[in-house]
Amino acid sequence: MLALVTFAKRESPSVSGMTSSPSAAFAARRVFLGGRFAPATVRVDGGRIAAIDAFDPDADTVLPDDAVLLPGLVDSHVHLDEPGRTEWEGFATGTAAAAAGGVTTLLDMPLNSDPVTTTPAALAAKRAAAAGKLAVDVGYWGGAVPENLGSLRELADAGVVGFKCFLSPSGIDEFGYLDAVGLDRALTELAAFDGLLIVHAEDPAHLHADGPLGVHYRDFLASRPPESERDAIRLVIETARRTGARVHIVHVSDGTALEDVRAAKAEGVRITVETCPHYLTLDAADVPDGGGAFKCCPPIRDRANQDLLWAGVVDGAIDAIVSDHSPSTVALKSEPDFGLSWGGIAGLQTGLSAVHTAARARGIPLERILPLMTTGPARIAGLGGLGRIEAGLPAHLAVFRPDETFTVRAEALEYRNPMSPWDGRTLTGIVDTTYLRGESVYRRGDGVLVRSGRELLAPSAVAGTEGSGASAPGASVHRVGEERA
Ligand SMILES: [Zn+2]
Repeated sequence: MLALVTFAKRESPSVSGMTSSPSAAFAARRVFLGGRFAPATVRVDGGRIAAIDAFDPDADTVLPDDAVLLPGLVDSHVHLDEPGRTEWEGFATGTAAAAAGGVTTLLDMPLNSDPVTTTPAALAAKRAAAAGKLAVDVGYWGGAVPENLGSLRELADAGVVGFKCFLSPSGIDEFGYLDAVGLDRALTELAAFDGLLIVHAEDPAHLHADGPLGVHYRDFLASRPPESERDAIRLVIETARRTGARVHIVHVSDGTALEDVRAAKAEGVRITVETCPHYLTLDAADVPDGGGAFKCCPPIRDRANQDLLWAGVVDGAIDAIVSDHSPSTVALKSEPDFGLSWGGIAGLQTGLSAVHTAARARGIPLERILPLMTTGPARIAGLGGLGRIEAGLPAHLAVFRPDETFTVRAEALEYRNPMSPWDGRTLTGIVDTTYLRGESVYRRGDGVLVRSGRELLAPSAVAGTEGSGASAPGASVHRVGEERA
């Protein structure tokens, strides 16, 4: 099941020398191009896609017929927790898991690192912690909290791609949440420079107070009802409409809330939404007593609700499917009381396989879900060029076997902590090899091969440092929005 893939590979100095500025050609019967699969050869030079030609059976690398060539996935919602809570995940293990899951670009959340990324100094600390550890490209979200309203521009200029806020307690005391007035202030401030606010939308008025809830999942589910999401999303829509700001709702779990989202989009409110693999593939009825691995906020709901989420995937109400990878230590997830265990799911490495498995069972083709895991999140994060196989773009690629099954074993995943709600489940579709700028950074069986990931910083930050030599050879900083040559 975990056999190594052996591609037909011709002797070629350009392939054997794939540690810098690689030149190579990848041929496959099914390459994901322009929203559909077609036979093609992807030619790579200097880390970028140089051309897309007809299928060439003599190319350097010819994929087996049961493999497909995908653009590297983009995951705009990942908590790597470094510095400060590196025992929860960290840049080294987190980006390894990303590479193993076919993800070539991820965006790190402003929590649960310590310090939280709410000041330029905290961003600098995070960047220092990331240095030399990245197996894939990483960008950073900043936080919008009561303490830094009024100075968001400063953090944007330091390089974050946008701002995350909560409308209810975040789970850690040092990252406070915004009330309706704070949300209005944040969006008014961001609208002035067209900044983006991404929102954890649960209304605290509907949430149970903190404390023990017992070992039964139904009691945890009842403590975070759908109304909490609906009311919070309505508040975000109203405030975005009034201020004209751009907003994005993270991890929508309540499918009924999509009606408001559809109406807002039709009306021209600048809103996008994401959901996550766990909401699309796991069912509240299957969560075992004390199953802390399944706890997240908002919660995994029932099957009827999941049908509504899939309808949103198919009709475009949902723009992205991203992991919200939010691990903690095994000890914190193993507390049997659902009110006391850590809320967050580890899903970065298994996202594509889990979603593909569930989509296939519903008769939804891989072509339909791929945009939500590539171009969708890329657009949300302002990485417009990424997520496609197209001449001029970085050669971020993943080789995926859509028909191969495997059983998830949490301890075999690349995560720091061996926890996964899919542990023991058999999934269909597995990533074989992941390429970053044409270089293989991960191969199944071998693990991470090289750590050549770069940081992605918002344009104003890079512009501000170019004169001081940040763009010198060897600098790993990359300007967001300059994905095209
Ligand atoms: Zn999150």
